[in-house]
Amino acid sequence: MNSEKSKTYIMEIFSSLQGEGGSLNGSCFGKRQIFVRFSGCNLSNKIENVSSCFWCDSPSAQIFKNPIVRIEEKPGSGKFKKRNNPIESHDLADIIKSLYTKDVHSISFTGGEPLCQLDFIESFLESFDQYRIEYPLYLETNGTIIPTNTQMQLIAKYFKYCCCDIKDRSSNIANNIEWHKIIDKELKFIEKFTDYNIRTFAKLIVTSKTKIEDIDLISKRLANIEYNGKNDIGLAIQPVFLVDENLKIKYTINTDHLNQIFYRVAEYLSPNNISLSIQAHKYLNLL
Ligand code: SF4
Repeated sequence: MNSEKSKTYIMEIFSSLQGEGGSLNGSCFGKRQIFVRFSGCNLSNKIENVSSCFWCDSPSAQIFKNPIVRIEEKPGSGKFKKRNNPIESHDLADIIKSLYTKDVHSISFTGGEPLCQLDFIESFLESFDQYRIEYPLYLETNGTIIPTNTQMQLIAKYFKYCCCDIKDRSSNIANNIEWHKIIDKELKFIEKFTDYNIRTFAKLIVTSKTKIEDIDLISKRLANIEYNGKNDIGLAIQPVFLVDENLKIKYTINTDHLNQIFYRVAEYLSPNNISLSIQAHKYLNLL
């Protein structure tokens, strides 16, 4: 095995409850997961001609090759020990297993953008059976790095759920032309993951600047994606959560606007496939 491929840069590994995703197929909202937060995001400053999402809640994970990984000492302790990156595949498996509790539902690969380290993920999955990790994998991704068909076969064997974070123009991530390219990639990503039978849903952060025309474009495309022969892809609508007071004043969405978004999405998707998502872990001060 190529030894570089078997090493990864991780920000942190911990046990917590999944706070996002609402009540959609594919969502693991409320389930205990072991979170593996990868280091680095391709949608962070000055990469791919975009600026970072202004509401990014893990800006430290935008950094590539972070030298230190934080590892929760005991599940639920909230206390972390540090060790140096990169870490080896088998070490990651051991750390995940050290955080097992009886209520674990799945292992979340999040970030940053986990698929920036697709080579590592591929090599990790190649050895997955020998690690005897008993839980399915959940991927939280920005959907802009699309694995090859060969990689997808391996991914689909172990990842059972996927949350694809899509962005409207109010994310300010890019100019109009670049934004169209990004959203197109994200929707193609969802198509590909559902083609491989991975239970995938889209999550959209909405703000006071979210445009109904973006909601139309996104919902129309989602309505045409099939899972198991049915138009059954969900959209989790997540009001932006901000800490900075100036940003809060500018971007917090009001109830009327949020309702209008729900009504509009329902022109395309069935009510079963529309859900509110909140960052419940933030309200409960969970990790
Ligand atoms: S894609 Fe995710 S990790 Fe990257 S900047 Fe946006 S919110 Fe942050």
